[in-house]
Amino acid sequence: MRYRSTPSLLLAEYGSGASIAAPEQVLPELQELLRLIANFEGLAQVDTLATIQHESTPFPLVAIRFGPSDPAAPALALFGGVHGLERIGTQVLISYLQTMAELVKWDRNTREMLKTTRLLMIPLINPVGMHLRRRSNGNRVDLMRNAPVVSDELARWHIFGGHRISPRLPWYQGKRGASMEIEAQTVCDFVRREIFPAKLSLCVDVHSGYGKVDRLWFPYAKTRKPFPHVPEVMALKHLLDQTYPNHIYCVEPQSRQYVSQGDLWDYLYDEYRAQCPDGCFIPFTLELGSWLWIKKNWSQLFSRLGLFNPWRPHRVRRILRRHLFLFDFLHRAVQSPEAWADISEARRHSLLERGLKLWFRT
Ligand SMILES: [Zn+2]
Repeated sequence: MRYRSTPSLLLAEYGSGASIAAPEQVLPELQELLRLIANFEGLAQVDTLATIQHESTPFPLVAIRFGPSDPAAPALALFGGVHGLERIGTQVLISYLQTMAELVKWDRNTREMLKTTRLLMIPLINPVGMHLRRRSNGNRVDLMRNAPVVSDELARWHIFGGHRISPRLPWYQGKRGASMEIEAQTVCDFVRREIFPAKLSLCVDVHSGYGKVDRLWFPYAKTRKPFPHVPEVMALKHLLDQTYPNHIYCVEPQSRQYVSQGDLWDYLYDEYRAQCPDGCFIPFTLELGSWLWIKKNWSQLFSRLGLFNPWRPHRVRRILRRHLFLFDFLHRAVQSPEAWADISEARRHSLLERGLKLWFRT
């Protein structure tokens, strides 16, 4: 389902009315997002891609677009809130949205970039899960295990890589043969419509809850074999290392940490490759290293939300500003493909060798 609605109408629909939940029961991240986009008239295009009804409350899936309407234009797309417990990812995207909404008002460089490149966002993919304080969606399906992707390398006992045993266990993929959940399907439809027509695009899907460092993962999740765009990722990593020598990211394939199946980005990446073999669509996952927040505040260990989100206000603020330069860097990268994507065969070959050595032969 897809319909277009003005932001203010959307806010009215969501924030008032006798038949829906009282505002104090409503998700703060969604309230903040709707408050922000209510002032986007003339700055960005806002679409409600779907509405998920939970009990008496409608939860909209909102997409924002800055830049041209032509989906063939190079794009950076940012996603968050796939897992309902990982609220900080949505908050980081709302923080960037706030920054962009100001920059387009006064910064000539930003306006210039947005004449030829697009910035797309779905900051909150699983609002019902976030409202219910659970990783999965309202049907207890893990949206990042829900795509029809099977891994041959997943050990049987390793249920966090995805399973179909029971919705009572986390990482549940949904029933075998069932269609994808509405949230996952909506993201796939959006990516096909708004990103696949482009010859060049980068995505970042923000998560938290794993590891001590911030990781920038590229495909695959399903296999430890190299994915076809290793040279482009190696070139991007080199640019990032040179441009921001003090950056904090560990860039690596997701499968270097663990293998999982049903990954939406594996699914979409393979589909795009089949349609457009000479195009470049690279979906990254930004996995924020939440173990560091727990190490600094042990009491977080005893809270479900504490395992995935920073608590102390100064730490939250730090996280909300820490990743903004990365989004800006990636936006500049789609604007300047000659630096990493439009490269000679000889350079590609040498980057491939370096990438294989760094990520796949150790
Ligand atoms: Zn996650």
